[in-house]
Amino acid sequence: MDDVESPFDCDAAVIGGGPGGLTGAIYLARFKRSVHVLDAGHSRAARIPRSHNMPGYPQGVAGTALIEAMREQARRYGAVLETACVHRLQRVDGGFALHFTGGREPLRCRQVLLATGVSDNEPAMPHLAQALREGTLRYCPVCDGFEVIGHSVGVLTDRCAGVREALYLRHFSEHVTLYFTQRVDVATEDRRRLAAAGIALQAAPVRALRLREGGGVLIEHEDGTDERDSLYAALGLRVHSTLATALGADHDEDGYLLTDARQRTSIEGLYAAGDVAQSLNQITVAAGGAAIAASAMHRALGLPG
Ligand SMILES: Cc1cc2nc3c(=O)[nH]c(=O)nc-3n(C[C@H](O)[C@H](O)[C@H](O)COP(=O)(O)OP(=O)(O)OC[C@H]3O[C@@H](n4cnc5c(N)ncnc54)[C@H](O)[C@@H]3O)c2cc1C
Repeated sequence: MDDVESPFDCDAAVIGGGPGGLTGAIYLARFKRSVHVLDAGHSRAARIPRSHNMPGYPQGVAGTALIEAMREQARRYGAVLETACVHRLQRVDGGFALHFTGGREPLRCRQVLLATGVSDNEPAMPHLAQALREGTLRYCPVCDGFEVIGHSVGVLTDRCAGVREALYLRHFSEHVTLYFTQRVDVATEDRRRLAAAGIALQAAPVRALRLREGGGVLIEHEDGTDERDSLYAALGLRVHSTLATALGADHDEDGYLLTDARQRTSIEGLYAAGDVAQSLNQITVAAGGAAIAASAMHRALGLPG
């Protein structure tokens, strides 16, 4: 019998090479599946100066070191890792074609794991990279609230959602102040909750942020300048789910993809894991979701044809 050439370049494509996508690739490669990881190279994890809540790293681990180790592990089992930005996902022949920016030939695969993450809206601030490195600027109280215990902490927001983040941080520090980028009408009930928790509210909009010599941040607002050890940006984020939503995948009002318990989206053959598929934006959660997705993909791919 003549060999019939497969219309697919690989069993599975993983879009996104952060902790979610790389975990999926490690699992799939170890399931003897041919897998390509297409990654634009902007993992949130690469911005973590040192994570202290990753199980197995009592001294903490830098985000870049973690990613590099996961990349090496994925390659070791045969996953192909490429730097590429996927700009369209198309359904073809019971599988998918991935279209790239830059005019490269589409990649055809039977299944897709989408692990494209989210991006933080950043404050207007000079020396942003330095501020992140030094822990002056922070984004994730779940990740590093422990590191600001007892410190003076500012929370910068552009909307009332920042109230929730300030209340969350109050568990870690008695010195929390809520700042706004613009005039915001804070509801009476929110004012009451902040006051009851002992959180200061600075209603005068912030005009500028500067790094303080020797550490910390200077927050210039219309009523003066405050000094704080750390500033949390609570300015929202952008969920990178459009490759899936363009195909009609179900999502919530924030853009997070909705999946079932096996990480399947509402599009057959399309799985999603990591920050793009749930709002508890954590490395372990991304990795756990991707492990579930990869196991389900492996089962759905069946025996080799
Ligand atoms: C400052 C900071 C500190 C943090 N600290 C911690 C911590 O201590 N502990 C913790 O658990 N979590 C922490 N987090 C959160 C953690 O980084 C994320 O939860 C984690 O990176 C999510 O992994 P992911 O794979 O879902 O997404 P990401 O790591 O963001 O990876 C997504 C990848 O997809 C790529 N991509 C997007 N669109 C496309 C496309 N169209 N084509 C190709 N590639 C694409 C992106 O470029 C990126 O490389 C922190 C986050 C920040 C910002």
